[in-house]
Amino acid sequence: MSAVWVLLCCLLFKESLALSGNFWHITDLHWDPTYKVSDNPELVCASSGNRPAVSAGKFGDYVCDSPWDLINSSVYAMKNILPNPDFIVWTGDDTPHVPNEDLGEEAVLSIVGNLTHIIKAVFPGTKVYSALGNHDYHPKSQLPAAPNHMYNQIADMWHDWLEPSSKEAFKKGGYYTEKLLNRPGYRMLVLNTNLYYDQNKLTQDLDDPADQFAWSDRVLSEAATNKEKVYIIGHVPPGFFEKKRSKPWFLSKFNRRYIELIEKHHSVIIGQFFGHHHTDSFRMFYSTEGSPISTMFLSPGVTPWKTSLPGVVDGANNPGIRVFEYDTDTLLVKDVVTYYLNLTHANAAKDRWEKEYRLTESFRVPDASPASMHQVLESIASDRCYLQKYYDYNSVSYDLTNCNSECRVDHVCAAREVDFDKYEHCLVKEGAASINGGLLPALSVALTLLWVGL
Ligand SMILES: [Zn+2]
Ligand SMILES: [Zn+2]
Repeated sequence: MSAVWVLLCCLLFKESLALSGNFWHITDLHWDPTYKVSDNPELVCASSGNRPAVSAGKFGDYVCDSPWDLINSSVYAMKNILPNPDFIVWTGDDTPHVPNEDLGEEAVLSIVGNLTHIIKAVFPGTKVYSALGNHDYHPKSQLPAAPNHMYNQIADMWHDWLEPSSKEAFKKGGYYTEKLLNRPGYRMLVLNTNLYYDQNKLTQDLDDPADQFAWSDRVLSEAATNKEKVYIIGHVPPGFFEKKRSKPWFLSKFNRRYIELIEKHHSVIIGQFFGHHHTDSFRMFYSTEGSPISTMFLSPGVTPWKTSLPGVVDGANNPGIRVFEYDTDTLLVKDVVTYYLNLTHANAAKDRWEKEYRLTESFRVPDASPASMHQVLESIASDRCYLQKYYDYNSVSYDLTNCNSECRVDHVCAAREVDFDKYEHCLVKEGAASINGGLLPALSVALTLLWVGL
C-alpha cells in the first residue's frame, strides 16, 4: 500500500516538475573593444562620444558600452544562476555605439563572432535562438531585405544553433522558424524586425520587406492548423519608446502590419520577447473588444550605455539579464526573474549579480499571462507605489528619481498602446487624468489654506 502511495507521489511530483521550464533572455550586449580604464575620462571608450567617463572601472561606465569584463561577467553569471536552461533567447545588438567609419563589415562580424563564441563556450549544447539587432550590420540599421555577405557569415557562425532549413531561410532575410526544442506542437519564430526600423533606408519603400509579413502569416496560419503554440522573438519592437514621448521605431505602415499579424494570430502566439530599448518594460496587445490578447516583454540590456537620444534625461541603466519561467505544456509565461549588476558597486568591490525582482512577487499577480500583465499595467497606472516600483526597475535600478505625472503618462501609454493613433489618444486621456490627480487636489489645498487664512 505504502509502495503504491510513494509511486503515486513520485509520478505526481514528476508531472509537476515536467510542467515547469525556464530560459534565459539576454539582449543588447554592445561590446566596446576600445574600453580601457584610463586617468583621462575622455580616453576610456569610443562609445561615450564626447562625454567624459568619470566613473570608469573594470566593469564599465554608464556612458560607455560594455567592456569585455562585463560581457564575460554577465555570461558567467547566467551559468552560475541557471546553468541548464531549456534554451537561450539572444536578441542582438552586439557592437558599440560608434560612427560607421569606426567599425566596418569585418569589425562587426568579428564582434558578433566573439560574443557567439563566449555563449557557445559557456553553454555548450544549449540551444540558442538568436535574432539580429540593428547594430549587427554594417552600415548600422541598414539590414537588407535580400541575401547578402553578412547574413551568410552570421548564419555560418550560428551553424550549431540552426536547423539546416533555418540556416537557408536566415541567409535570405535574416529570419527563420523552427519547432521549439524540436518538440511537435511548439514553435519559435525569429524575426528580423530591423527591416521595419524607420532608420533603415533600404526597406522604406517596400510593402513587405523580404516577404517577412506574408511568410509570418503563413507560418502562424499553419501553426493554428497544426495546433502549435508559438513564441516570437526579435530586436526592434513595434510601438513607442517609454522614455521619450511620441518616439516610435517602426515606420507607421509596418507598425500597423505587425499589430494586424498579432491580432489575427494571437490564439497561437503565447509570448513575444524583444530588446533594443535597453530598459525593462512590456507592451500590451488588446482585442477590438478590449481584452488583453498578447504581451511583448522588453528585456533590459547588458550594456549600461547612457542613450544619446535627444530629450531623454539620464538614460543609462544597470546591466540586466533575465530568466523566464514557463509552462512547458502550454508555453504560458509563469514568471519573470530579472538579475542585475549594480555597476557602481561592481567597480568598487566585485561583480556580484543579484536578483532584482520577481514579477509575481513585486506586482502581486498569479503569472505573466496577458490578463496578469494587464493587471500589472492597471496597477502601475492607478497606484503611485506600483508606478515608482516599475520605474525603478525600468532602468534596472539605476535611476531612482521620482516618476512624476508626465513620466507616468509616457510609460503607461507606451505599454498600453502599440498603435500610433491609439497611443496619441492615450496621451490626451491620461494627461487629463493626471491633471485631475495632480493639479486639482493641489488647487483645493490652496483654496482650503486661503479659507483657513480668512
Ligand atoms: Zn541596443
Ligand atoms: Zn537596437
